[in-house]
Amino acid sequence: MLQQYLEYKKQYPDCLILIQVGDFYEAFFEDAVTISKRLNLTLTSRDKNSDNPIPMCGVPLSVVDNYASRLIDQDLAVAIVSQVGPTGKGPVQRKLERIITPGIQLLGNANSQNDQIIASLYFDFRSELESTDKFNFSLAYCYPASGCIGIFDNLDRESLLLKFSQLLPKELILPKNIEGKSVDRRLTMIRELERRNSNLILRSRADQNSKWEQSSRDINAIPGYSLLDPSSKSACRLLINYLDEVTVDQMIPIQKVIREQEVKTLLIDASTRNNLDLITNQRTGNQEGSLLNYLDQTKTAGGQRQLKRWVLAPSCNLQILNDRQATITKLLQHYQETENFSLILEKISDLERLATRIELQVINPRELASVRDSLLFIKQLKNLTADLNIDSAAGFLNTFVTELVIPEKLITLLVESLQSEPAVLFNDGNIFNDSYHPDLTYFRNLKTNGQALIKQLEEAEKIKTNISSLKIRYNNLQGYFLEVTKANLDKVPEHFIRKQSTVSSERFYTPELKKLEEDLVSAESKLINLERELFQELRNKVLLYSQELRVVYQLVAELDVLIGFTRLSEQEDLVAPKLQEHSQIMIQQGRHPILSQMLKNDFVCNDLFLSPKAANCMILTGPNMGGKSTYLRQAALIVIMAQIGSFVPAESAEIGLVDRIFARIGASDDLMEGDSTFMLEMKEASEIIRSSTERSLILVDELGRGTSTTDGYAIAQAVLEWLIIETKARTLFATHFHQLTQLANQYPEVCNYSVASVDIDEQVLFTHEIVPGPANNSYGLEVAKLAGLPRKLLERAALIINSTPVETNRMLSASSQITLFSEVAKPSVKELQKAFPKKAFLESLEKKIKEIDPNQLSPRKALEIIYQLNEQVHADSKEN
Ligand code: ATP
Repeated sequence: MLQQYLEYKKQYPDCLILIQVGDFYEAFFEDAVTISKRLNLTLTSRDKNSDNPIPMCGVPLSVVDNYASRLIDQDLAVAIVSQVGPTGKGPVQRKLERIITPGIQLLGNANSQNDQIIASLYFDFRSELESTDKFNFSLAYCYPASGCIGIFDNLDRESLLLKFSQLLPKELILPKNIEGKSVDRRLTMIRELERRNSNLILRSRADQNSKWEQSSRDINAIPGYSLLDPSSKSACRLLINYLDEVTVDQMIPIQKVIREQEVKTLLIDASTRNNLDLITNQRTGNQEGSLLNYLDQTKTAGGQRQLKRWVLAPSCNLQILNDRQATITKLLQHYQETENFSLILEKISDLERLATRIELQVINPRELASVRDSLLFIKQLKNLTADLNIDSAAGFLNTFVTELVIPEKLITLLVESLQSEPAVLFNDGNIFNDSYHPDLTYFRNLKTNGQALIKQLEEAEKIKTNISSLKIRYNNLQGYFLEVTKANLDKVPEHFIRKQSTVSSERFYTPELKKLEEDLVSAESKLINLERELFQELRNKVLLYSQELRVVYQLVAELDVLIGFTRLSEQEDLVAPKLQEHSQIMIQQGRHPILSQMLKNDFVCNDLFLSPKAANCMILTGPNMGGKSTYLRQAALIVIMAQIGSFVPAESAEIGLVDRIFARIGASDDLMEGDSTFMLEMKEASEIIRSSTERSLILVDELGRGTSTTDGYAIAQAVLEWLIIETKARTLFATHFHQLTQLANQYPEVCNYSVASVDIDEQVLFTHEIVPGPANNSYGLEVAKLAGLPRKLLERAALIINSTPVETNRMLSASSQITLFSEVAKPSVKELQKAFPKKAFLESLEKKIKEIDPNQLSPRKALEIIYQLNEQVHADSKEN
């Protein structure tokens, strides 16, 4: 057994091997240590008394799926090896039953929904081994259940990184070597890919032609494959080979290989994706707080996947986006009905995944019934949609109604065959409807009414033979028999066959009784076998529809996302942005979607206007913690939402479509790559300079921070000038280098904006309002004070500022940091009200409460006061 174990381990080194030993699946050696640690299971050992006991850890047979899922969730892959031969003398035969990986869980627990994109990479080394720029990359990818492979070919380094960031695959298959040179983490390119997707799992596989000669898959027959260039063919082979490895004996049918056209999408690189918290919250690593999480009101697994694809690669196609907007508008007019849609969507299973489980022949009866039920729900959905009087003005809704073809024949087949809630397993004969096959009723009758049928036969024979004392009896030795007393023997008909004589009677059987007896004894197993056969037949019939199921489900998934957008628009008061093919962005009273959802009325809305005709480069200055980064992110998120087709958080918005977003907000060291903050800043700046166009949106926060002030300032100005003169992209540039604001005098494209603040009682209050004009103060010391640095230390800092040579001081800040210790001008009432809308009210409340002496209060007076205070609080919240 250990030998078998080690052989499997050698063959599948990426997997934890769980091997069946009787009623347990056991792991050994390092796998056992890993599993015991990860699942908190007891680590035992085999051969305890030897010098080198082998670590061992096991899980019961019946719960292996649960344990496997927990390992997969921790990014581990599991191979399950089961016993197939009888136990006894000699080694038990075992067979690899299935592999489950973090990206491919099609053979896992039927409930797991976590299949993700798997990709493979191939490239030719050519001669320029050192320069990764010169490689010619092919990236193949698939969502395992889609039955379709996409290929990006002829990619240069930059395009590869972008495509990779937009796909965000869970596993990446690399060739072990190319032209004799090994491919692994030592290549900078591979490390860069890992950096762009921190959850990535790398797999290394050989691309051997000999494998295909033995395989029953005819790869050359897959439509589209033969048209690929050699590099893409290799990428494709690596991917298919890996899918076949994971699905063991089964094969996911690949319908086609598609060379991805350059579909125009809004390009978002990995660091922009991270900076904007598009998929996960950068700080916590969780989905909560991300744009995806904010937008996700989907009810189906397909809808969830579709939304993620849109967030990673928003569209640049005006027609598609207008179609999505038109759908939301139409649905908002029928909001009540939309709620019903959601109730139906909730009940639709993941048909894409189930289609693949049909193809892999692993679907179970309960799942097949859920295909039937889902199709019935989809039919309902289509009818409800059609009831809304849809026409071409309803955008995607119209497509949904006209292009969705319900596979009626499949529904009929499944309705007629399967019970309403069939069993998952074939162990109690409750899968098919009685009417589906005549023998089903017969066997089920036998199973439940066995004794009644014996009695029925007894009665029938009594009447036929006219022997009123005739009995059908049973004993363990002879089974069932007809018993006739000696007195009646002359009435026994010819077809009675003698079995045994006793003193007073003779025992007989008839062919009919014998068959009934056999059927009775084996009714259960016959029923189960019959259902098994029928299910196999049914599965084959259903196989013909798997592609149709995918097409139907794709339309449902898209509708699901748009219904989610509709609900979000209603809940969050979003508006339809006007999308246009120009380079202007105008947002009135825009909100940061996630922060404003959290802060509600306390969020301060802001406008944004960037136009090539006026100014398309905004320099944003202002205090730390004032809201600059929020404002930058808000602009990007609104544009991305608009280009996904969603409505946006603003009073009104006009968005000239953006081809690429760069968000350089907040720097972090990449020590793994050996890059300092400054190096990373410069790399990103260089990428912006090289890749942006007039149609891009560039958001830069504090460029040049990681080096000396003089260098940093000089680079920041040069980058900014390049963006203004050469690139002409729409730019938001937040900075603490105040003299950059002077550029507005030089370039009409530049406008200065700042974050407003109010100084009150030696305290700085950030109003988070973005107002025209440069900031006159940087408030660094105030923020330090807010953060709790000792007063003495702050006084020292102020002294240093005042003694710093004027030139440097000017570099640091346009005006000195005055407010902390100097006399502060009293704010106007308006300022105070704006800054502290509740302050006056709270003060009056405090005064009133202080005046109360509880010891002097009667219960009645106390109640009166409570009423008064309550009234006052309500009146105040109404005013505000
Ligand atoms: P720094 O220069 O230190 O990076 P910053 O100017 O970029 O600061 P942000 O990080 O954007 O400031 O915002 C600081 C805090 O202010 C945020 O955490 C948020 O809670 C709050 N804030 C920012 N903008 C708004 C707004 N428009 N309305 C309400 N609160 C806001």
